[in-house]
Amino acid sequence: PVDAPDLTGAGPAEVLRRIFGYDSFRGSQQEIIETVVGGGDALVLMPTGGGKSLCYQIPALVRPGTGVVVSPLIALMQNQVDALRALGVRADFLNSTLTLDQRRLVEQEFVAGRLDMLYLAPEALGTAGVQQLLDRGKISLFAIDEAHCVSQWGHDFRPDYLQLSMLHERWPDVPRIALTATATTATHTEIATRLKLDDAKHFVASFDRPNIQYRIVPKDGAQTQLLAFLQSEHAGDSGIVYCLSRASVEKTAEYLSGKGIAALPYHAGLPADVRARNQSRFLREEGLVMVATIAFGMGIDKPDVRFVAHLDLPKSVEGYYQETGRAGRDGLPSTAWLAYGLQDVVQQRRMIEQSEGDLAHKRSLSAHLDAMLALCETVECRRVQLLNYFGEEAAPCGNCDTCLTPPEQWDGTVPAQKLLSTIMRLQRERNRKFGAGRSIDILLGRETDETRRGRHHELSTWGIGTDLSEAQWRSVVRQLLAQGLLAVEGDYNVLTLTDGSREVLGRRRTVMMRTEPKRKATKSSRSSG
Ligand code: ADP
Ligand code: ZN
Repeated sequence: PVDAPDLTGAGPAEVLRRIFGYDSFRGSQQEIIETVVGGGDALVLMPTGGGKSLCYQIPALVRPGTGVVVSPLIALMQNQVDALRALGVRADFLNSTLTLDQRRLVEQEFVAGRLDMLYLAPEALGTAGVQQLLDRGKISLFAIDEAHCVSQWGHDFRPDYLQLSMLHERWPDVPRIALTATATTATHTEIATRLKLDDAKHFVASFDRPNIQYRIVPKDGAQTQLLAFLQSEHAGDSGIVYCLSRASVEKTAEYLSGKGIAALPYHAGLPADVRARNQSRFLREEGLVMVATIAFGMGIDKPDVRFVAHLDLPKSVEGYYQETGRAGRDGLPSTAWLAYGLQDVVQQRRMIEQSEGDLAHKRSLSAHLDAMLALCETVECRRVQLLNYFGEEAAPCGNCDTCLTPPEQWDGTVPAQKLLSTIMRLQRERNRKFGAGRSIDILLGRETDETRRGRHHELSTWGIGTDLSEAQWRSVVRQLLAQGLLAVEGDYNVLTLTDGSREVLGRRRTVMMRTEPKRKATKSSRSSG
């Protein structure tokens, strides 16, 4: 580490310049920093890459004492501390990876007032040992990073975060700053309540990331689509490919490697040393593609991630936005690409049904998924839809697939009725429920062993859907599922009717559908940027 510069009496602007080497603050950084330096509490909602870290690092340096940073990311504490030390900041961490001797040393430094910043895991703060330690030193502030982890209905809930409400009771004079990149109004309120941030000043930055181009394509051989996307638009670029399962992470990484793309796998099932090695290679080297589950990425600060691709449907808009937000932190044009298909919807609905937890929890998961599906099926600007979701108004952006190649809408009421009526007839006349494939076979009048055995050709909807292709029928099923006009149930993912389906069948409701555009979205933002 370089020598610690003498910062006695230095103000925020000077610290920004001398330690971090930046000329000016971004967005509301200055106001946030002044609030905390002045001893006030702050709740900061800022998108990934917005510059949250400085909001607590600078006050920690300006105020006397040690800034205690609560972070859920034990794996990344070392990186964060290394980065700060390289700047001459006296930072350290306490977590389960330290030996007893290492621990003692850190504790000594803290008590002696020789630390600017101390990183802790949330569970550590709950222990008497750590609490007593903190009483023996001087604390300049508490920073609660990834504060949305306190939200019980959120996608990153960590029970240990709940106890952080005691910080205020135990150390009432120490200012607290809670930070997150998750911005729904519900999470926002929940953070304030659960952390008892009653008098905190709220700073809500715009969540728009204008340099990210959002694109969502219907899945049709996802790996091949991904390869084409990478080769045609992001050859040699660094990026992240998210998959739902460990198995698909491995398969996809192998597939890409086989096609000459430098791809590394990352998921919680890999040995810790492999994960650490792949992560640090991704951070250090250029042009690597990280194929990962969502276990990867939180807290990763790599400015030049040029694309984030999703091969499976994220569970929520919050998750999607946070994951895609890892692209383009340097402000240069980047792509968020998602391939989504019928199978995704079916699979996720089933996962929710089988998940543990009470009805309220399942409803909440379902509502999150519905919002994600609505984003996938929207005929409007993706960015407008995203920002509206986070409570922000916006105008069509000109830099997403629906703006670049507007999808047409069509009245899909009649095909919807044909499909729903087929499902209803199978249920009533055959007393059976099937997956999407069977209904499509019936609509297309395709004889198979199964349709013969079930005498499905005797149904009145046999062959009445030949005006649409199989792919179009799949899109109809998907959109009906997305709109809640059809549901999936049971272990075999069979389709079943909803109250909404009955409205469609009873001609009390029309169904508008999205026509998938034929042309691909262009890279206009890249060439003009
Ligand atoms: P977040 O935690 O909100 O995702 P970071 O704190 O990691 O974002 O900041 C993202 C990037 O922006 C980092 O590389 C950081 O050094 C840089 N950055 C932050 N504030 C400024 C600033 N005022 N001027 C220039 N660069 C900044
Ligand atoms: Zn748009």
